[in-house]
Amino acid sequence: MVSLQSHSSIRITALDLRRSKTLCAVRCKDPSSNEEKGDEKKQRILIAGGGIGGLVLGLAAKNRGYGVKVFERDLSAVRGEGRHRGPIQLSSSALAVLQAIDENVAKQIVEAGCVTGDRINGLADGISGEWFTKFDLLTPALKRGLPITQTICRMELQNILVNSIGFDILTNNSKVVDFMQDSHKVIVILEDGRQYEGDILVGADGMWSEVRTKLFGQQEAKYSGYTCYSGITNFVPPYIDTVGYRVFIGFKQCFVASDVGNGKMQWYAFNNQPPMTTDPPGGMSLILCTTCKKQRLVELFGHWCGEVISLISKTREDMILRRDVYDRDMMDECWGIGRVTLLGDAAHPMQPNLGQGGCMAIEDCYQLIVEVDKAVKRGSDEIVTALRSYEKKRRFRVSTVHAASRMASKMLGSYQPYIQVGSVGVKRERGRQAFLTNV
Ligand SMILES: Cc1cc2nc3c(=O)[nH]c(=O)nc-3n(C[C@H](O)[C@H](O)[C@H](O)COP(=O)(O)OP(=O)(O)OC[C@H]3O[C@@H](n4cnc5c(N)ncnc54)[C@H](O)[C@@H]3O)c2cc1C
Repeated sequence: MVSLQSHSSIRITALDLRRSKTLCAVRCKDPSSNEEKGDEKKQRILIAGGGIGGLVLGLAAKNRGYGVKVFERDLSAVRGEGRHRGPIQLSSSALAVLQAIDENVAKQIVEAGCVTGDRINGLADGISGEWFTKFDLLTPALKRGLPITQTICRMELQNILVNSIGFDILTNNSKVVDFMQDSHKVIVILEDGRQYEGDILVGADGMWSEVRTKLFGQQEAKYSGYTCYSGITNFVPPYIDTVGYRVFIGFKQCFVASDVGNGKMQWYAFNNQPPMTTDPPGGMSLILCTTCKKQRLVELFGHWCGEVISLISKTREDMILRRDVYDRDMMDECWGIGRVTLLGDAAHPMQPNLGQGGCMAIEDCYQLIVEVDKAVKRGSDEIVTALRSYEKKRRFRVSTVHAASRMASKMLGSYQPYIQVGSVGVKRERGRQAFLTNV
């Protein structure tokens, strides 16, 4: 990795002001017209990426009266049109942050999703279906006066955020390909040549962030060892009133099932495989599938408990997606340079087993906007310090959750159930093969 210092100086000296003729400055309120903030200069915040983090930050910035633009390369992907993107579990702390950012939006999210933290949540044995451990999500939330953990369909969540931000702030078909900065401003460059000027740029462009690559150079992502199938189905299982979110675990695979409200169940099936493996070609019985994910899932999970099998069988082939799961090592030092910083998966992509990546992105947004607010009060020259302060304040919490997510992935995948078979020994279920062992 090239040092921060050398990159920083390259970026700053690379600023070509002659190109500024084509700049579209972000519209922001005239600072003098802002009575609340007196003479303070309103910062112009540019955000690359309109996923969970980019949209929540855009909303926070808008609500505080900052000039803000969110550049999204493909809104149909954000909304999940023609596809779906699995359930998102929102923890109590992420929900509290959403409330602090926008009470009305938080209310819409609660209404569109469903509270799972007041039901049984936890880990169960994949083959027998028996509970292995249960998590108490309710007591800690009640104790601290926080909202209760809920899940929501990802596209519902993003739709609410998109509609709340509005299209004067969010621009579609706007892929960020580069940026330039000097000591006074940052300029974002889009794929079609458009340029925008602002005071800071936040790379919220996800796991494969262009902004991160421009800042720190190309870095290898780490394959988790798992591919992930996700599905959604209009199905209300008999246990709906008692169980919220359940992770069925087994050797080198697990299955996550969650109520997402409105008569829908969503699930993830993780299986240990080399990256970029493909599913077998579809059979004649399943129309419109070129590869047959459902068939593959039946092979992998067909010997698991009824709850898992019924969710797979109730899901249409075209409602099953698949992707390989990657994360990255945490960055040692700060995750920005000058007027540019990163947020969410762009800064700290983590494995999904704890359902915390999106929550961390939401928490990032709050810390970032708080630091910007403080800098504005101190004086506009403080904005770069604000970004470093945001990174510093988030690092410890995010690193802990990042490490715990990797650990959870290892733990879940190495689980092997032991089933007593008389006095001789135990039968160890290992994937689809069972064998006897003396202990
Ligand atoms: C299987 C699975 C299950 C998960 N479950 C949960 C869960 O239950 N709870 C939870 O909190 N988290 C969960 N996560 C993690 C969560 O999905 C991510 O952490 C979260 O989406 C990160 O948000 P983000 O805004 O940083 O990035 P993203 O949501 O990835 O958004 C990035 C956006 O930037 C856009 N973009 C990319 N490049 C550019 C560019 N150059 N210019 C402009 N736009 C660009 C993309 O189109 C995208 O819209 C899960 C992840 C996986 C894989």
